[in-house]
Amino acid sequence: MTVPTPEIEKRDLAREYRRLLRGAEHSKSPEDRKRIRKAWELAVEAHKDMRRRSGEAYIFHPVAVARICSEEMGLDTTSIVCSLLHDTVEDTWVTLDDIERIFGKRERVIIDGLTKISGIFDAAQSAQAENFRKMLLSLSNDIRVILIKIADRLHNMRTLDSMKREKQLKIAGETDFMYAPLAHRLGLYAIKSELEDLSLRYRQPEQYAEIEQKLRKTKAVRTRFINSFAAPIKEALDKEGLKFSIKGRPKSIASIWNKMQKQRVSFEDIYDIFAIRIILDTPPEQEKSDAWRTYSVVTDFYPPNPDRLRDWISIPKANGYESLHTTVMSPTGKWVEVQIRSERMDELAEKGYAAHWRYKGQRADNRLDQWIGQIREVIEGGEDSALEFVDELKLDLFNEEVYVFTPNGDLIVLGKGATALDFAFRVHTQVGQKCIGAKVNKKLVPIGHVLQSGDQVEILTSRKQKPKEDWVNMVATASARSKIRAALREDRQKLAAEGKSALRKQFKTLGIDFIQANIEALTHRVRLDSPAEMFVRLADGRLVLDEFPHHEVRGGRLHFIRKAAEPAPDKESETPVAQSPKKGEALVLGVDKQSLDYTMAACCRPIPGDDVFGFVTVSGGIKIHRSACPNATQLLSKYGYRVLKARWAGQKERSESRATATILFSGVDDIGLVNHISGIISADMSVDMRKVSFETNAGSFEGRIEVVVNDTEHLGELLDRLRDVPGVSTVDRLED
Ligand code: MN
Repeated sequence: MTVPTPEIEKRDLAREYRRLLRGAEHSKSPEDRKRIRKAWELAVEAHKDMRRRSGEAYIFHPVAVARICSEEMGLDTTSIVCSLLHDTVEDTWVTLDDIERIFGKRERVIIDGLTKISGIFDAAQSAQAENFRKMLLSLSNDIRVILIKIADRLHNMRTLDSMKREKQLKIAGETDFMYAPLAHRLGLYAIKSELEDLSLRYRQPEQYAEIEQKLRKTKAVRTRFINSFAAPIKEALDKEGLKFSIKGRPKSIASIWNKMQKQRVSFEDIYDIFAIRIILDTPPEQEKSDAWRTYSVVTDFYPPNPDRLRDWISIPKANGYESLHTTVMSPTGKWVEVQIRSERMDELAEKGYAAHWRYKGQRADNRLDQWIGQIREVIEGGEDSALEFVDELKLDLFNEEVYVFTPNGDLIVLGKGATALDFAFRVHTQVGQKCIGAKVNKKLVPIGHVLQSGDQVEILTSRKQKPKEDWVNMVATASARSKIRAALREDRQKLAAEGKSALRKQFKTLGIDFIQANIEALTHRVRLDSPAEMFVRLADGRLVLDEFPHHEVRGGRLHFIRKAAEPAPDKESETPVAQSPKKGEALVLGVDKQSLDYTMAACCRPIPGDDVFGFVTVSGGIKIHRSACPNATQLLSKYGYRVLKARWAGQKERSESRATATILFSGVDDIGLVNHISGIISADMSVDMRKVSFETNAGSFEGRIEVVVNDTEHLGELLDRLRDVPGVSTVDRLED
């Protein structure tokens, strides 16, 4: 510990206090000054014998937090007072009653909130989560609690060096887990970026240092580029008579790191991705039109990418963010994002919620209130464990909206990641249930297609369509998911009823009483868990009962005959259920997966009807490969003893045996062609499309579609139909 002399410390402290006052723009009145002075004196007195781990007097911490609140968040006098005192009640002799007596009720509430949050930031993850919950609970008292807590965390992150390594990791992890997302949601972009960068610096010190160094090295190149890019824009905006400033901002280190991780690219591939920001000095009533004038100037020089235009001026983000974004092509062939906004919008973007106080009456205030209201509902309504709660809330924090439109131009707001199917269910439950695909911006897409803001979405339906099991994974909104689940349940109940009545008839012909004992005996015999499951399978054709072998009926009761010591002679015809393979006997696939532990190999993805074999893997399960699998030769030659013969049960099985195949095709580029192809796949043949991509090049096109088919016959028919489409020259199943 290096403790400076009392004189130096006193001088430094006086300087910090002067800086605090100078920076407190919103606290200039004598009354405000007096309150800050009182808080300052109380804090100095209360913390006077305390030092931080670094050796510096403790009071430097609260004063730094107060400066962050006032200078970086633009908060008011009450926030400054409370941040100066934020650690007093917890760590010193000062009581909440003292606070209330000297300052007031409001200050008491805020400091009480801050004291409760900081409670035990120890040990387990659940404690963190519980604290996070408490923190958000205090939202209902005063949002300043959260803002001061974020400022507190920011200062602790800035001074994390003196902590022990494990403590650093814990605090950095927490910061990334809770505080950065929260700052983001409150619109504190600058603070969010800094928290993420600082967190990364402690969690991944080497990678952080490397990116930092590379950014430094490439700075000159970037500056040159920005200057030459901005020059013609500056000149034209001057001519237009607009007042403005232009900034070029490299991405934060954490966002570069995230991008490198996510897209698996190197620094060199992305270091020059940055945004040019044009900030207009213009009165509120003119900011929108001036922003568009500026847009027009920018795009006079550089062609824009129409898919990347984002107008958050007309429709601000939920956290209040307003800006006009476009991405344009620079002369060097690089895409550059240009952000156009007024000074007011810029301050909002940097300081977030706090800046709203200054510009009261903005639409964004409403949205934030709505969000806080939602959180309050979740907290107050939920009995969930704290950890689940955090997960849910984090989802919500990241779940920014996408704004999409109906063909009539009505706006629909969905959570980020929402698909065409989510959209369909939002329009109407019936539309969702009958959805077979969609046209997004007039292009045909599969139901799982993820929507982007600005998309215009038209849902395609078919009377024959109904919800499928895997739809649950194709939606992002909770409401669509619950509607799908409900429909599946209903469907199952209907099937079960059908199966039940079919069995009743069959029992009648055979003279068997339709009673629980008999039904259960049969359920047991076909090795299913429940009569309901058996009814469903009878109805959808997965289970066929032509006759009951080895049974007798006595007085209406069904008895199966068990011959001791000798397995039934022809097991496969005895019951319709697949058996574990015996020596030399083939594995029968596609009948009942329950009794058999096999999975389809990822390398060749066999589908029913393919020529296949089973391979016993080291981990125990059986993998099914196509005989044409590129790995087959090796497996068969080297590990012959682990190979099992396999064949498919009936080729016409409906059921879970549906499988994915990729189709490649090419032809002459023609606008109608893609629609024609998609129409055949989704409408005529009721095949689910998964991934779709089309590429056109000088009059020809290549396409790749992932489809879900029942079996090879189904696929073959589909391929034939596609080959018949005029203009298509080749259609193939992807074989690798
Ligand atoms: Mn603190």
